[in-house]
Amino acid sequence: MKLKFLGAAGTVTGSRYLLSDDKHRLLVDCGMYQGVKNLRKRNWAPFPVEPSSINAVVLTHAHIDHTGYLPALVKNGFKGKIYCTKATHELCKVLLPDAGYLQEEDAKYAFRKGFSKHEKPEPLFTVKDAQEALKHFESLHYHERFEPVKGMEVTFTPAGHILGSSCVHVHHRGSDRTVVFSGDVGRQNDVIMRPPEPIQKADVLVCESTYGDRLHAESDPESELAEIITKTAGRGGIVLMPSFAVGRAQMLLYLIHKIMAESRVPKMPVYLNSPMAIKATEIFSRHHKEHKLSAAQCEMIDENTEFVRTVDESIELNSVRYPCIIISASGMASGGRVLHHLKTLLPNPRNSVVFAGFQAPGTRGDALVNGADSVKIHGEYWPVKAEVYNLDSLSAHGDYEEILQWLGAGALKPEKVYITHGEVVASDVMRKRVRERFGWDVEVAELFGEVKV
Ligand SMILES: [Zn+2]
Repeated sequence: MKLKFLGAAGTVTGSRYLLSDDKHRLLVDCGMYQGVKNLRKRNWAPFPVEPSSINAVVLTHAHIDHTGYLPALVKNGFKGKIYCTKATHELCKVLLPDAGYLQEEDAKYAFRKGFSKHEKPEPLFTVKDAQEALKHFESLHYHERFEPVKGMEVTFTPAGHILGSSCVHVHHRGSDRTVVFSGDVGRQNDVIMRPPEPIQKADVLVCESTYGDRLHAESDPESELAEIITKTAGRGGIVLMPSFAVGRAQMLLYLIHKIMAESRVPKMPVYLNSPMAIKATEIFSRHHKEHKLSAAQCEMIDENTEFVRTVDESIELNSVRYPCIIISASGMASGGRVLHHLKTLLPNPRNSVVFAGFQAPGTRGDALVNGADSVKIHGEYWPVKAEVYNLDSLSAHGDYEEILQWLGAGALKPEKVYITHGEVVASDVMRKRVRERFGWDVEVAELFGEVKV
């Protein structure tokens, strides 16, 4: 088999890997690039492999940087099936049409403002394209073996990152070789996800390195959160939490309601202002066997959260002046309803803005957690007077020590490891650490590099 790195090399977004033998082509993940403009521009380049020549796609998880290009792939000629776990499928039904909607809105906005070099800017794909892509989906259980293309057997094992997330194991029958893709790897002690299942066998391993050069702060997120909320409410302010709709939003809701039930913070309304996060929360409750929270705990979230669904309700929420907690997407403040809240809340020192995950370089979230004194939103600069926090300990990615622990927990003895899904420095530090700890042959993947596996 051959493996070609079509994305997520030298950066954390745009995950796409192509496995091929002389007869078939299997694409693992089909993500969009996010973050700085130069990266986002790559979404508009023709897909590096003719989409119609790809036989099937398998997905590690639903996040847009792993699935967001699928509608464009189908639009440009991909005819095969797209395989993933059941929960990933359900989440994609929400995430992909939403991504199409955002594309359409962006194109309309560019047209109105006249800043596109095209006379009529086109979206990369539409809601309709996303729905078309969803027709290609087929879902499977963890550990269920299937054959997306003849001669390549695939299984999913839990990766502990978000609901439905998995490591993808590909066994090539002809050569009797196994290639494992880590996908995004979760935490050893996550609040809601169970730890990633150790990998027992891989001839070649493709491993993420988002936190390849960092350790998460050893803190107690419940106490930190309690302190921030109590302090902010004490000065009459609002706590705004920009959050990823899938995964982090549900975890934040759980933690907030837990500390509220334990009277560690004053009682106040908790709003979830993101239609996508609301749908993801419903899916999360339905799949409660796949995470640590019980049906009763999911119900507690449901009963105590004010779900803000319509645009009018969202606008109304912006005029609220009493202490409350608002969770809104997107998680890196790159778009969505959270931008309106930021414009209202950032200029006032009474308020707090709390991030709870990785902030890709170039995003507003990254600027804010790094102490920017103003940020540009909707073409205008807004002063940052509110307190900004980054609860890094709530990240959905294992740090390097957690990943090393996970790699060492199985009977793994790979011939070769390729490091992907990290900024340049993070990937290189991860490479050294894996080599030092296990003595394996490790290399950082290069964009468009092709290797024999
Ligand atoms: Zn992810």
